Amino acid sequence: MKMKAERAMKSDTIAAISSGMTVSGLIVIRVSGPDAVTVAERVFRAKKPLSEAETHTVHHGFIEKDGVAADEVLVSLMKAPHGYTGEDVVEISCHGGPFVAEKVLSLLFEAGARPAEPGEFTKRAFLNGKMDLSKAESVIGVITAGNEFALRAGVDGLKGRIGNEIRVLREKLLDEVAKIEAALDDPEHYDLSDDKERLGEVLAGAEKEAEALLARSESGTVLREGIRTVIAGRPNAGKSSLLNLVAGAEKSIVTEIPGTTRDVVEDTVSFGGLTLLLADTAGLRETSDPVEKIGVEKANRAAENADLILYLADAREGITAEDRAILSAFPEEKVILLRNKADLVTEADGETAQRSGAGARSLSDGILFSCKTGEGLETLKKAVYERFVTGKISFNDEVILTSRRQIGDLKDAIDSIRGAREGIRRGDSEEFISADLTAAYAALGRIIGEAVGEDVIDRVFEKFCMGK
Ligand code: GDP
Repeated sequence: MKMKAERAMKSDTIAAISSGMTVSGLIVIRVSGPDAVTVAERVFRAKKPLSEAETHTVHHGFIEKDGVAADEVLVSLMKAPHGYTGEDVVEISCHGGPFVAEKVLSLLFEAGARPAEPGEFTKRAFLNGKMDLSKAESVIGVITAGNEFALRAGVDGLKGRIGNEIRVLREKLLDEVAKIEAALDDPEHYDLSDDKERLGEVLAGAEKEAEALLARSESGTVLREGIRTVIAGRPNAGKSSLLNLVAGAEKSIVTEIPGTTRDVVEDTVSFGGLTLLLADTAGLRETSDPVEKIGVEKANRAAENADLILYLADAREGITAEDRAILSAFPEEKVILLRNKADLVTEADGETAQRSGAGARSLSDGILFSCKTGEGLETLKKAVYERFVTGKISFNDEVILTSRRQIGDLKDAIDSIRGAREGIRRGDSEEFISADLTAAYAALGRIIGEAVGEDVIDRVFEKFCMGK
C-alpha cells in the first residue's frame, strides 16, 4: 500500500475528454493528478478560487485565456483521496461542441496537464488502491454492456462482489498453508498426519466452489458476449429468411468488446434480452447440395464454434434423409429444431410429416415455425432463454467472473488445488502440498490484481477508451 501511495505521489497531472465528442448537451473534461486544482485554476475564473473550495462541490465560472473567455462551465471538485482516481480530480462540464471542448482541453494542456492515455484514470484508481483489478475490469464490462446480463455482471463487479468472493476462497487456502507451515516449522507440536482427512475435505470443498464459479462464469461469458449462433438446414429451408427475420427484428446496440473474436460474425442481434452472434452461414446457405459440397466435415466445423444451431426443416416434409445427414454432424445439445413454413402446412402434409418424422428427432420435438408470419418466434425466444439462462445462472445472488483473464487465473487456481489434493492422496510431503496451495492462492490473487506484473496491468487498461 505504501509503495502504491509513493507511485501516485510521483505521477503527473493528466486531462482528457471523458464523454463523447459529438455535438451534445455537455462534454465533460476530466483532470486528475497532484496539480489538478492548480492547473484548473490557471484557466478557470470563478467567484471563489478552487483551491479554497471543499471537496465534492460544484462551481460556476468561465474558462479564460488572457482575459478572453473560451466557455462558460460548471466545475466539479473531488479532492484526494475521494476522487475516482484517488487523486485530486477536477471535472469540467463545458458546452457540448467538439470545437469548444478541444479548445478548453488545449488550454488545460498549456496550463500544465498532459493528455491522458486510454484508461489512465482507471489505471490510477487501481494503482492508488481505490479499486481492485476485478473492479477495474467491471468498469469496461459496464461500458461495453450490450444486454441485461452484461450490465448486471458488470455492476456486480463494481460493487466489489467478485473481489469479495475471491478473498473468501483465498482466506480458506491461506489458513491451510499457515497450518502446514506451522507444522513444518515446529514438528514436535504440530503433526499433520492426523489432519490429512480434514485438509482433504476442505480442499475438496474449495475446489467445488471454484468449479461452480468457473462454470457460471463460462456460461456468463456466452451471455455477456453473445451466443454464437449458426443457422443451418437444407437449401430452401428458409435460412436466409430466418436470418432476416431475426436480424431485422431488433437491431443490436452491442458495443465492440476488444479481444473477442467476431471474424465470422455476420450480424449481432438482440434476441429476447440475449445477444446472438449470427455466424456467417453463407457457405451453408448458398450450396445447392450441402451434403456433397459442404459435407459433414464443414458443418462440423461450423458447429464446433457455435453455442447454438438453429436447424430449419420443412414442416411439410418432416425430417428427410438429407436433414438427418446434416444433423448427424451437430452435437444434439446445441440444436434447436424449427419446423419452418408452418403457414403452408395442410392437413395432408401433417400426416406425411408425422410418418417420416418418426425417430429420435421427430418433428414433434421442434418448434412449429414460420419465417413468413413470424409464428413460433416467441416460442423460439423462450427456448433459447431456457437453454442458456434458466437453471444455469442465477444472476440475483451469484457472482460471475467477467473477463477471460480472470477465468484463466481461476482455472490455474483449480489446477493447483487439484494438484494439492492428489498430493495428499499420494502421500506427498507437506512442502509440496503447501507449494500447490500457495500457487492457488497466488492465482486467485491475480484475479483481483495482487502481485500482477506491469504487462498484465497494461493489457487490462489498453482495452479502455480515452478519458476513462
Ligand atoms: P435458404 O435457401 O435456406 O436460405 O432459404 P430461403 O430463406 O432463401 O427461403 C427459400 C424460399 O422459401 C423463399 O422463397 C422464401 O420466401 C420461402 N420461405 C422461407 N420461409 C418461409 C415460411 O415460413 N413460409 C413460406 N410460405 N415461405 C417461406
